[in-house]
Amino acid sequence: MADGTVYLVGAGPGAPDLLTLRAARLLAAADIVFHDALVHPGTIALAERAEKVAVGKRHGEHSTAQAFINKRLVDAARKHRVVVRLKGGDPMLFGRAQEEIDALAVAGIACEVVPGITAALAASADLGISLTRRGMSRSVTFATPRVGRAEQPTDWIKPVLETDTAVLYMSAHEAQSIAAALIARGKPPGTPVAIVENASLPDVAHQITTLKALSTNGFRPLSAPVLLMIGAVYREALERPALHPYCSHQSHLSAA
Ligand code: SAH
Repeated sequence: MADGTVYLVGAGPGAPDLLTLRAARLLAAADIVFHDALVHPGTIALAERAEKVAVGKRHGEHSTAQAFINKRLVDAARKHRVVVRLKGGDPMLFGRAQEEIDALAVAGIACEVVPGITAALAASADLGISLTRRGMSRSVTFATPRVGRAEQPTDWIKPVLETDTAVLYMSAHEAQSIAAALIARGKPPGTPVAIVENASLPDVAHQITTLKALSTNGFRPLSAPVLLMIGAVYREALERPALHPYCSHQSHLSAA
């Protein structure tokens, strides 16, 4: 039998009904699904006939080594026709997609990527605040201070200082030192920060604060995924919270 194809599929930010139609179709057709820990059970359940294998990690928990995941994908494609690697948000953003794409290419296995809605976009929708509010922001930076093992650290602060709106992934556990580092490098202490956890999910929560307050008080790390969003577009919500029309998606029908 010819080898199968591995689909790196974006599961979106959490809510199962924020999946693309293509992702849903591939899940329904999948023989085997390797999924991250953050993927909603309702999304995984769409893979009705597939064997389901959890390979992802959450902060501080054991992760399946990337090389081992790569090998499992290759082995699965030798046995199955439709192999789905389901990743939170979009696979191409902080999702270690490249390692898997490269390993599949080396093994001669066909691979396709299906984009998903990244967490920053879901969080913006929940807040009802545009990342590129006219007159305030014409640039957005997605960044993370997190450096993987054996990786060369790069300066994530410079682009965050230079952009209008910054969205920091994998940053909740270091929120206090991140805020202090940004202030030390010249970001105004009064810069507004939106902290959004569980974007797109029924228990979404947010708070709006400043870099100064965050550097002083820190932020209690939660088990839920969290984004730090930094920039002038959050000032109105900070200064006039009563007037701020937060959007809610909770009235939407959930596919779960
Ligand atoms: N590929 C994913 C990001 C993976 S990195 C994407 O495109 O969204 C994991 C980080 O994403 C988490 O540490 C958190 O910062 C963020 N994240 C993922 N889902 C989230 C959610 N529902 N709400 C808030 N942040 C989320």
